[in-house]
Amino acid sequence: MPDPSPPITIANFQRLIREMYLEKDLARGVDGTFMWLMEEVGELAGALRSGTHEERLGEFADVLAWLATIANVVGIDLTEAVTRKYGTGCPGCGQLVCVCADAEKP
Ligand SMILES: [Zn+2]
Repeated sequence: MPDPSPPITIANFQRLIREMYLEKDLARGVDGTFMWLMEEVGELAGALRSGTHEERLGEFADVLAWLATIANVVGIDLTEAVTRKYGTGCPGCGQLVCVCADAEKP
């Protein structure tokens, strides 16, 4: 039996996307890349509304891939970003189970 692939972490997913696409992504630039992300977000909305589980899997993957692409283009480490903001709990109330008022964004 072949070795199973290591689990994909945020860090190695971002690295994978960088290795596959960085040259093209840099040539396209952040504005064009952001448009692709928004297109994929729209496709995710469609899949959530009326798609199959398989279609939803694909659209979630696409949104994450384009988000990672934009992070690569502008030099953002996604692991650092999420660790800083969410690594110790809700950024609003600081709790691991959010207790922010319903009217607040989190
Ligand atoms: Zn909170």
